[in-house]
Amino acid sequence: MFLIVEFKNYLCPLIFLSGKGGFFTLCFSPVFQIHNLVDGIKIIKIMLPEFDNTEIAFRYRSNKELKRAQFLFSSLGSPTLTSVGMKMTKLAISWNLPVQGIIKSTLFDQFCGGETMEEAGKTAAIIGKYGVSTILDYGVEGKETEGDFDRAVPEFVKAIKFAASGKNIPFISIKITGFAYFALLEKIHSGATLNENDKAAWKRVYDRIDHICSTAAANNIMVLVDAEESWIQKPVDDLTNAMMAIYNKNRIVVFNTFQLYCHDRLVYLKKSYEEARIKNYQLGAKLVRGAYMEKERARAAEKGYPSPIQPDKQSTDRDYDEAVQFCLERLDCVAVFIGSHNENSCLKAAKFMLPNNIPSDTSRVWFSQLYGMSDNISFNLASGGYHVAKYLPYGPVKDVLPYLMRRAQENTSVAGQTGRELSLIAKEIKRRGI
Ligand SMILES: Cc1cc2nc3c(=O)[nH]c(=O)nc-3n(C[C@H](O)[C@H](O)[C@H](O)COP(=O)(O)OP(=O)(O)OC[C@H]3O[C@@H](n4cnc5c(N)ncnc54)[C@H](O)[C@@H]3O)c2cc1C
Repeated sequence: MFLIVEFKNYLCPLIFLSGKGGFFTLCFSPVFQIHNLVDGIKIIKIMLPEFDNTEIAFRYRSNKELKRAQFLFSSLGSPTLTSVGMKMTKLAISWNLPVQGIIKSTLFDQFCGGETMEEAGKTAAIIGKYGVSTILDYGVEGKETEGDFDRAVPEFVKAIKFAASGKNIPFISIKITGFAYFALLEKIHSGATLNENDKAAWKRVYDRIDHICSTAAANNIMVLVDAEESWIQKPVDDLTNAMMAIYNKNRIVVFNTFQLYCHDRLVYLKKSYEEARIKNYQLGAKLVRGAYMEKERARAAEKGYPSPIQPDKQSTDRDYDEAVQFCLERLDCVAVFIGSHNENSCLKAAKFMLPNNIPSDTSRVWFSQLYGMSDNISFNLASGGYHVAKYLPYGPVKDVLPYLMRRAQENTSVAGQTGRELSLIAKEIKRRGI
């Protein structure tokens, strides 16, 4: 940490407390807090976001949990083991073999908050002690009947009320596919004419989402609407925009998600901003790179249409960082939710904030990572005063299995991520001497 004074726009180091490098590092560091203002002299505390500070990153984890995480990430690092393990798990579940205990003590405990909302609440309280908030994510997937969709609504209403009764759960997240037939969303997206049944079903979807958003607004909780496959995204966008137009008039309640791995999403973000200005509401923009790349490319190839995905990772990174900056430059009308495990993107955002007079603790900027991943980013940013929230899925082990499978897959297929997690865990295990 540095303490410096700013005098007539010149920065002079006052105390060098810790940190890497010298004045050079200082000049290119984000300044986190402006502490005092005395006759034109600002006393500024600079804390470098050291994403490799493992003491801060893992202080909420016991020795046993750390060792478990090390074992888990090492196993996930092997694509063969992961692929065989995933197939065997699916088979075992379908044959009703007693494997839930093993899943619970490995993947589930690493990536989920608990089997019930109350258990998730306890996990939220633990990370809350270190300034990290929670996004309650009812992780049950694969429900496919009108009855399932109807039953999901009270479950989310309960989650909102539960979140409102606590201190550090400002968000819940929803997936529109938890409330609507996938085929209906696909049909609307394609522009096909809806019959009377479709129209009635779509009206029910609207009512379900409206009920959740109005309850959230009444309880001062924010709703993140996840993005899913590109071929159902149009109705998801339209519905979410309609909710924002109602509930984001004076403050942000609803966020739409923009997947910047699609080459049209940066333009769409800008369009969404314009629409919010014209219709006089605030835009909640959750920015992610996107989780369905292989599936998107495979479908496009199979059906013979141009892939919606960017040509390469560099293009996704470029659009992602541009989208973050676009939002940070318009915080009067936008709240941005930076959902990423990419250290570079998080650091760039933090660095952009200071010279542009955006305080680290503004409620218009949130950083977020998934529970069980990239704790080095979450806990170090939180310790620097930024708003950080973890996606915390909960639900019965069997029902959150698709989510766990995606995490397992992601930690195998995302180059470098597993290695990064492992090396940080190993560093902390060594530091603790366990
Ligand atoms: C809090 C949070 C919420 C999320 N919510 C959603 C959601 O609602 N919907 C959703 O789809 N995803 C969601 N995700 C997942 C997210 O989209 C990414 O898959 C994941 O976070 C990895 O991207 P990254 O920014 O963390 O970092 P990185 O590891 O730097 O990026 C990996 C990502 O880059 C992109 N990419 C990789 N290779 C290429 C390539 N060759 N060409 C083009 N692009 C490439 C892919 O999107 C890949 O997932 C969420 C993630 C977080 C942390």
